[in-house]
Amino acid sequence: MGERYAKQTILPEIGREGQVALGKARVLCVGAGGLGCAVLPYLAGAGVGKITIIDDDRVDASNLQRQVLFGESNLGELKAIAAARRLANLNPDIRIEARPERLDSGNAKVLFETHDLVIDGSDNFATKYLAGDASVKFGVPLVYGSATGLEAMVSLFLPGSGPCLRCLFPEPPTGWVPNCAEAGVLGPLVGAAGCVQAIEAIKLLAGRPGSGLESLCGRLWVMDGRDLAVRRMAIRRSPDCPVCSGSPANIELQGPGPRVREIGPGEIDRLKQPVLVDVREPREFVEGHIPGAINRPLSALQSGQARLPDAGTCVVYCASGNRSRQAIELAGSNPGVDLRNLRGGIVAWEGAGNVRVVPDSAERAV
Ligand SMILES: [Zn+2]
Repeated sequence: MGERYAKQTILPEIGREGQVALGKARVLCVGAGGLGCAVLPYLAGAGVGKITIIDDDRVDASNLQRQVLFGESNLGELKAIAAARRLANLNPDIRIEARPERLDSGNAKVLFETHDLVIDGSDNFATKYLAGDASVKFGVPLVYGSATGLEAMVSLFLPGSGPCLRCLFPEPPTGWVPNCAEAGVLGPLVGAAGCVQAIEAIKLLAGRPGSGLESLCGRLWVMDGRDLAVRRMAIRRSPDCPVCSGSPANIELQGPGPRVREIGPGEIDRLKQPVLVDVREPREFVEGHIPGAINRPLSALQSGQARLPDAGTCVVYCASGNRSRQAIELAGSNPGVDLRNLRGGIVAWEGAGNVRVVPDSAERAV
């Protein structure tokens, strides 16, 4: 076993037995974003025998604030591939598999059934619910994590003993939809959540029974970044939970929605006469938008008062790319129109050296 794991095998709570158990463990990490970038190096460093990373996204500049596995040289690369390469360098003794795809209702079965533990490192509730439901359906423990604004949350869902994600959040919590990620997040706060997920995963996989370790099963760990207060709240199994109160075989996996095609800020010029659609609210639109853009606020799309164009090529954008993704998912599939989500939104577009036009000053200039 050597020196590599000496600092943890010396812990009575882990020991050599725990290390052997880690070496046999297979962990699936859903997402290689802010949470995944914090969890993954610790799991690799600890000697988890097999790590699978599933993520279909590519690294862009707006990720580097918190996705610490990546650097400038990784821009444009698939996150799963870039992360796997970093982990292989960190620990050559373990097996690492990169899957540059999305977790969906089709691949969930084989992925969950071939792993002992799943880490939720996703950034959207469609994927979180899919991972939560699959965890119950296939009986695989799930370490849940999230970080929005200045709040980090972690929990452990153990199928058959304790609540599931749907018991905790029957609906996506406030602050998540529709405008969640536009609210922003502090990089190290995501890292803190990911580190707590890694602790929980290692405890579960390697912890010696009876050594005084307590899991987060039935508890929600919450850290408030404003005053760094940490709470552990009891969460209970809901007797009428639509997912964990019935037979696992009857759980129907759903989502996430259809794949949304993306486009980088530097690629817009290559499109032939694209229509630029800004789905932010009117007050955001008047503060400045991409020249030539039309405003179709997400709220109006959701209430049916507005629609996205149904022909041609359209670049849909918001502040950072989440509301525009929802707008495209809402539009559903229509082969007559090529809807592209502007990766990183107007923030990334400006970061690429472009300047937004402010309607008032533009009028004055005329
Ligand atoms: Zn439940």
